[in-house]
Amino acid sequence: MEPKYKRVIMKISGEALCSLENRPLDFDIIDNVTEQIIEVAAQGVEVGIIVGGGNIWRGARVGKHMDRTTADYMGMLATVINALALQDSLEEKGLQTRVQTAIEMRQIAEPYIRRKAMKHLEKGRVVIFACGTGNPYFSTDTAAALRAAEMEVDLIMLAKNVDAVYDSDPKENPDAMRFDTISYMDVINKGLSVMDNTAITLCMDNHIPINVFGVNEKDSIRRVVYGEEIGTMIK
Ligand code: UDP
Repeated sequence: MEPKYKRVIMKISGEALCSLENRPLDFDIIDNVTEQIIEVAAQGVEVGIIVGGGNIWRGARVGKHMDRTTADYMGMLATVINALALQDSLEEKGLQTRVQTAIEMRQIAEPYIRRKAMKHLEKGRVVIFACGTGNPYFSTDTAAALRAAEMEVDLIMLAKNVDAVYDSDPKENPDAMRFDTISYMDVINKGLSVMDNTAITLCMDNHIPINVFGVNEKDSIRRVVYGEEIGTMIK
């Protein structure tokens, strides 16, 4: 069986890498994610990763305590910590990777250059995009939509702590309704907190489908890549 998608952007939120014991990074979770990425990359799927930073820092959460722009730059730096952890885990398992940052930090990573990123993907290297869009007041979800459009991918894989999109939080409401598929407009109109509106509209305008799935479900990354209908498809 062939993978359904040739090139994907996988968005991994910071919180999906976080353990229950309040540590920012859980190496068992990281290993589970990177093992599956290696498996799909070995099948010829080109993988770009956008990693969030919410396990370490979220700009908007500091409220009035700090200047928002500074807080957002701190959030972007947090994504670099996660990107390096993913890179380390992938390379330790033998896969070639590159980290590209939207804010230059040349001792640590390459700056983001679209044509270079495309070349890396074509050569089978996993590209991990860090620092989001490089701009405050944005999110790594929007960065995922932006890089997905730039990299001309077939799918955004939105790896989450929950297994699908619901109309309310399934942990708090046992009657929460689960969606198998949903339109971009319904996500916006129903105010579902799956992705921010900027990211959703960017995907809608560029016709990029988004598969939301639980990163901790068994083999979920592989199953999505092979076209199994798990989680929620936003299209
Ligand atoms: N951030 C930003 N611009 C971007 C991407 C991220 O300012 O383009 C900041 C923002 O403060 C955000 C933090 O980085 O709260 C972490 O990113 P995000 O909340 O998207 O991470 P996730 O929720 O996916 O872990």
